[in-house]
Amino acid sequence: MADRRGSRILTINSGSSSLKFALFEMGDDEALRLAGRLEGIGLGGSGRFAVKDGEGNSLVDEANPLDDHEAALSRLFDWLKGRPEHGGLDAVGHRVVHGGSRHTRPERITPEVMASLHDLVPLAPDHLPQEIRAIEAVSRAYPELPQVACFDTAFHRTMPAVAQAFGLPRDLADEGVFRYGFHGLSYEYIVGELRKEAGSAAAGGRLIVAHLGNGASLAAILGGKSIDTTMGFTPAGGLVMSTRSGDLDPGILVYLLRHRGLDAEELDRVVNKRAGLLGVSGTSADMRELLEREDQDKHAAEAVALFCRQARKFVGALAAVLGGLDTLVFTAGIGENAPPVRGRICEGLEFLGVRVDPDRNARSDAVISPDGAPVTVRVMGTDEERMIARHTRDVVRERGPSGSEP
Ligand code: AMP
Repeated sequence: MADRRGSRILTINSGSSSLKFALFEMGDDEALRLAGRLEGIGLGGSGRFAVKDGEGNSLVDEANPLDDHEAALSRLFDWLKGRPEHGGLDAVGHRVVHGGSRHTRPERITPEVMASLHDLVPLAPDHLPQEIRAIEAVSRAYPELPQVACFDTAFHRTMPAVAQAFGLPRDLADEGVFRYGFHGLSYEYIVGELRKEAGSAAAGGRLIVAHLGNGASLAAILGGKSIDTTMGFTPAGGLVMSTRSGDLDPGILVYLLRHRGLDAEELDRVVNKRAGLLGVSGTSADMRELLEREDQDKHAAEAVALFCRQARKFVGALAAVLGGLDTLVFTAGIGENAPPVRGRICEGLEFLGVRVDPDRNARSDAVISPDGAPVTVRVMGTDEERMIARHTRDVVRERGPSGSEP
C-alpha cells in the first residue's frame, strides 16, 4: 500500500517583508492545492494577503496591515482553518536560508536544530530571525505537526574545499567565513526536472544553471552535484542583482568605512538595498521596467548591460571550472521571461559552443539553442516550494533527501 504519511504539506518561505506559502498533496501526482503570498509585512498599512487554488483561481486577495511575521502567519492560519485542505495537514516544510556547514540535508526540526539555527543568526541576520519566528509560530498553532527545515545552502556542500575558500586568514575560515552558496533548492529542483526532461546523461553532464531573479546566482553542476557557485558567504555576492551589488573589490568597503564614515548598518544598506540594477539605473530594481525604458534611458541601459556582461563572465568562469559545457539552463523571473537578457548573456559565448536560435529564444521555448548545437541552452521553470514539499515528505517518511532510501 502506498505510504500516505507526510502527504499533505504546507510549505513556508519567509522573506524579510513577505512570506510565500503553498499547500501540496504529495501523492503520486504531487498536486498543488493552494499557493499564496503575504506581502508588505511590517511596512505599515501596505500589507496584502492573496491566495490562489491549484488552477490559479483567486480565492482571497485582501489588503490589510500585517504588523509582523507573527501577525501575517496568524492571518494565514485563521484562513486555512476554514478550508477543506486544512483537515489532515501532515507536515510543514520551511525554506531556511542558511544551514552553515553543519546542515547538509533537510532535517526534521527538533530543539537541537532550533538551537543550531539560533547559533547561525550572525550568518544571515536579515532572514534567519524571521524564519525562526515562523517555525515557532507553526509550533504554537500546530504543536503536533512535524516541521522540516530545508536549507538553501545544503546543495552546495558538495563543492570542493577550494571552491568554498576565500583568500583570507585561516582563522576567519575557522569561524565559518567561506563560500556557502544559495538558491540550492532551486538548483536541486532544476537538476531533477532536467533528468525527467532530457535524461540522466544531460542532468549528470557539465551543467550551468543561471537562476536569474531578484536574487541571482549561477551554479556549476557536475554529476548532479554543485561544484561551484557565484554567491558567497552571503547572498550579496556574485552577480549584480536587483538591489544587491554582487562581487565588489573589497577595497571599496574599506573606502566607504574610512572616507564616507559608514557604520555597519549603512554599509549593509548600500550593498544590499541601494546597489544592483536599482543603484546603477537610479530608478528601478525591476528588469522588465529597465528593458522597457532602455532605449530612452541611458542609465537603465547601463544597468541591463552590466547584468548581462557579468552573467556572461560568470558563465565563462564556471565553464572553465567544469572543463567545458554541455547544458546551460536559464531559470527564475528574468531567466524564464526575458529573451533579450538571455540573448545578450549568450552573445560572444560561441567559442564555448553556446548558440541561441533567435526565434526559439523570443518564444522562450524549452530549448533555445539550434538543433545540433554543442551546448543545449534551455529555459526551465523553477519551483522551490515543490522541492520543499518533496523534502518534507521524504524526511517525515524517514527516507533520505530527494526520495532516496537511507
Ligand atoms: P523573481 O525574483 O524570480 O520573481 O524574478 C523577478 C525579476 O524577474 C524582476 O526583475 C522582473 O522584472 C523579472 N521579470 C519577470 N517577468 C519578466 C519579463 N517578462 N521580462 C523581463 N523581466 C521579467
